[in-house]
Amino acid sequence: MKKKIAIGISLIFLISPLYGSYNITILGTGYVGLVSGTCFAQMGHHVVCADINKKKIKQLSHGINPIYEPGLSELIKRNVQEKRLHFSSNLPESIEESDIIVIAVNTPSKENGQADLTALESALYLIAKHAHNYKTIVIKSTVPIGTNHQIKSRLDDFNLPESSYGLVSNPEFLREGSASCDCLYPDRVIIGSESQRATEIMKNLYKSLPKETHFVITDRTTAEAIKYASNTFLALKISFINELANLCDATGAHTATVTKAMGLDKRISPQFLKPGPGFGGSCFPKDSLALVHTAKEYNSHMLTVQAALQANNLQKTVPITKLRSLIGNDLSGKKIAILGLAFKANTDDIRYSSAITVIDTLLQEGAMIQAYDPKAIPNMKLLYPQLSYSDNSYDALRDAHAAIILTEWSEFSTLDLAKAGAIMADKIFIDCRNVLNQMDLVANGFRYQTIGNGGTRHIPISYFFCPDPY
Ligand code: NAD
Repeated sequence: MKKKIAIGISLIFLISPLYGSYNITILGTGYVGLVSGTCFAQMGHHVVCADINKKKIKQLSHGINPIYEPGLSELIKRNVQEKRLHFSSNLPESIEESDIIVIAVNTPSKENGQADLTALESALYLIAKHAHNYKTIVIKSTVPIGTNHQIKSRLDDFNLPESSYGLVSNPEFLREGSASCDCLYPDRVIIGSESQRATEIMKNLYKSLPKETHFVITDRTTAEAIKYASNTFLALKISFINELANLCDATGAHTATVTKAMGLDKRISPQFLKPGPGFGGSCFPKDSLALVHTAKEYNSHMLTVQAALQANNLQKTVPITKLRSLIGNDLSGKKIAILGLAFKANTDDIRYSSAITVIDTLLQEGAMIQAYDPKAIPNMKLLYPQLSYSDNSYDALRDAHAAIILTEWSEFSTLDLAKAGAIMADKIFIDCRNVLNQMDLVANGFRYQTIGNGGTRHIPISYFFCPDPY
């Protein structure tokens, strides 16, 4: 009789959440944790976004969003008002009261390229200590392929019995700048687990996505590999196009035409074929390094990814090379306007941004920097408090001997070049995102460089659609 009741209760445990919403704790309320937690709330679940950073939680509890991400503040506000989204720095309490614990802590690079899993380890320790009933433990942080074995043995070390949790690898693919949309309308959801119970819970968790998507159900190791494969492949694509753009610059070929034509090939696709000053952000550089490191650990190699990293490091020096080609080698005492500090548009994230490499070189060479970014100045100020920061592009351009565009913020593409030319000391633009109209630059007497000589330059071929002859 007792046994029957026990089976009944565990079945209710298994089934009841399938027809309702889950109580979820997100451990780590950063770019990924805050966005995915808010999106889970939007899907109807009850979410606590928790973090060890008390200042961040306090801000969020007072309605202040600590990151810039389009549409996110509105989504947070709505879900807080509807009482599905909460913030807490009381991690033990949140863990105890949740069915699902999503780990979204940072996994930065160590000096040797290996992923630093210290934050993940503390999160696991806390879960083990406070998991008093069955928990689905979801690893959303990007962790090296094979980490799930370590996680399992750490949970053993912390005396969490295997029967009291289901472990899932559920890597995140959101892109900063369009993160909420990516989270609610993902191209695919990866669920890696050896536990059928946890897999069912995960399928149910994502059941209220507003649009159908592909679900890839696999084991944990494969799920981890999918994340690294995806990110490093994109890094390869960017490094390839950057090197090709440099070659186009050297030979006089038009990169924009080359990439447009390449992208028409369905096997290639036009995505990620825009040349620029090198990739940054918290993912591509760190994940490429970690994959190379993992390969070494297994006596294997990822030479292509290593090459992509090398090419990227070189690419980050291209803006200064181009600057020197127009302004001369001696940069000391020159006023340089930097437009764009974030690693990409529509975010305030500056991690591994090309702006950092450019700023470092300019400072070493004794140049004076006037920097502007619509959203990333507060973050850059923490790193470089000594720079002069401007409130808008024109203030940054005032009296500058040259300007470098490093981020593709849309407001840079609509700069009034006549006004810019009138206030700059010298009319020089290094447009590393190809956002300016080159005919306007010429018309306003600017000397300029782009990357790949592409951008808005007139494309000297015509396109026509070839109907299927059959
Ligand atoms: P982040 O640095 O913005 O946020 C991490 C948060 O975790 C911080 O607020 C930190 O205070 C908190 N934290 C650290 N240790 C903690 C602990 N023990 N308990 C609770 N909170 C803790 O990092 P992020 O950009 O959100 O990235 C998180 C993970 O997601 C990383 O593994 C990253 O590789 C991966 N990822 C990031 C992106 C992205 O675009 N940022 C996209 C996909 C995947």
